[in-house]
Amino acid sequence: MAYVVGALPTRTRRVTIIAQDPSVRRGRKIVMGEVAIPREDLRAGPWGHRVQVVDYDATLDRYRKPKPPAAKDDPYTGKDPDRLIADPEFHAWNCYAIVMSTLARFEFALGRRIPWSFGGHQIKVVPHAFADANAFYSRQDEAILFGYFEGYRDTVFTCLSHDVIAHETTHALLDGLRERYMDPSSPDQAAFHEGFADIVALLSVFALPGVVERIIDLGIDRKHERPQPSRRIAIDRLSETRLFEGLLGLGEQMGEEIQGVRGAALRRSAKITPSPTLYRSDPAFQEAHRRGELLVAAVLRAFVAAWRNRLAALGDESALRVGSKTLDRERVVEEGAALAETLLTTAIRALDYAPTVDLKFGDYLSAVLTSDREVRPDDKKYELRRRLRDAFASYGIKPRGSAAGGAWPRAPEGLTYAGVHLEALQRDPDEVFRFLWDNRRALKLDEGAYTEVLSVRPCTRVDPDDGFTLHETVAECVQIRRLRAGELHLVHVRRPDGMPDDTEVTLYGGGALIFDEFGRLKYWVGKAVGGEMGGEDQSAQLLRRWVSGAFETDRRRSRRFAALHLQRAVRAATRKEEW
Ligand SMILES: [Zn+2]
Repeated sequence: MAYVVGALPTRTRRVTIIAQDPSVRRGRKIVMGEVAIPREDLRAGPWGHRVQVVDYDATLDRYRKPKPPAAKDDPYTGKDPDRLIADPEFHAWNCYAIVMSTLARFEFALGRRIPWSFGGHQIKVVPHAFADANAFYSRQDEAILFGYFEGYRDTVFTCLSHDVIAHETTHALLDGLRERYMDPSSPDQAAFHEGFADIVALLSVFALPGVVERIIDLGIDRKHERPQPSRRIAIDRLSETRLFEGLLGLGEQMGEEIQGVRGAALRRSAKITPSPTLYRSDPAFQEAHRRGELLVAAVLRAFVAAWRNRLAALGDESALRVGSKTLDRERVVEEGAALAETLLTTAIRALDYAPTVDLKFGDYLSAVLTSDREVRPDDKKYELRRRLRDAFASYGIKPRGSAAGGAWPRAPEGLTYAGVHLEALQRDPDEVFRFLWDNRRALKLDEGAYTEVLSVRPCTRVDPDDGFTLHETVAECVQIRRLRAGELHLVHVRRPDGMPDDTEVTLYGGGALIFDEFGRLKYWVGKAVGGEMGGEDQSAQLLRRWVSGAFETDRRRSRRFAALHLQRAVRAATRKEEW
């Protein structure tokens, strides 16, 4: 269950944090947890190689000078949590540790260093940024800002909420990995940023045994929540329904005071009863935030189903061994936390296998199914891929990959590698471009579009369960084609009704390339600029942008109001987290 970055335990240290937020308590005690973070030589702040905590409060125009870093490995272990929540020094530590552990999870899952979206190495983290019930990531400020506000009883600090910190950090990382996901496209793409940030946040919290313990308390011992619950639990009491009730119960408790402002991701998503029509046609779920909750709901259902499945298998073993289908409470908790850890890694790893533009939930599902099979070919323990497929299907989301089990098909046969060098292909964008150029017809690239290789990254991915290591190189390319509405038929895209012939239209395509360790292309997750390969996608997307008035912006842009408007649009997109 130990979470190890890069399989070198001495490079990390385990530190004490608040497991979720001060409202999640067992009895009267705040539930605490531990996360693994890279060991590093800190400056006062804490200020490390990737994170600088700056305790500046804009509302009061006040800067708090930090104390020098503690010499102890885990400075807050054993301290009274009720005192810690009033200590600004601990607030700074808590968000430093959770931002770093979220970054470490991404780096472990993707098997390489992950840059922040804004290009610099260090992100600023501001624990008491302003007096407001809000927290957000800001690309321009290169910062994550946490607010505080007066709650029912005391001041509520968003910097003490694990899921808020992990959620905002995920925005900052995802934005760096897939920059075009902020573009106006389909309702799915708009919803993905929020849904994915919630998935990472919630699974990070479930990976802490103290939190899983609460799920068991609330789901299994609900009626008689006792200080000394029984040590063994009968398997029939660990049904999917009861486990799910536990999740809901936790959702009710999590951020009790923040809930009014933050949509309470767990509670809301767990309450969505599976139905395929929500995704397909329910108008309420066309809106980005609600739509994102469908993605979260599907992952939660898969989590509970896989957990139940695992416990049932252990119950059968126990029946053989001790003659009764019961399990140690501690074991049930451990299994839940370990599964959350695995599922979280799977969810993050899929990003490399996801399209670079115009993402649909079904694309993400295929990316999950394909990347997981590559690193974890043996899925007997959890049957995670089947659970994910079933859970997504119950919400009407089907994989878009055409290979067996909903995975992406292998790259086409007969590609040429004559002009490229393996060494260079693993790190040089020009070399990857050469490969694309030589194979542009086989990969169905648009020959009239501007094409750019955005990144080339060698990765080493590890399955911690059996130590299996996979070497891959991932590259991203984007294709951009500008044309007039009157020319859309050239790329098989329908002109929306009423769009004048001379309207300037920009279409995006491109994709992700996954090379194996010998430099052979394994997968090409491409989206066509035109309608030929992408089917209805481009026409539908263009129609949506036209109807939503996106071209008003384009026309104004051409009248040179560009800079101002763009700035406003970008600010609106990144300045405020809409809870
Ligand atoms: Zn968000």
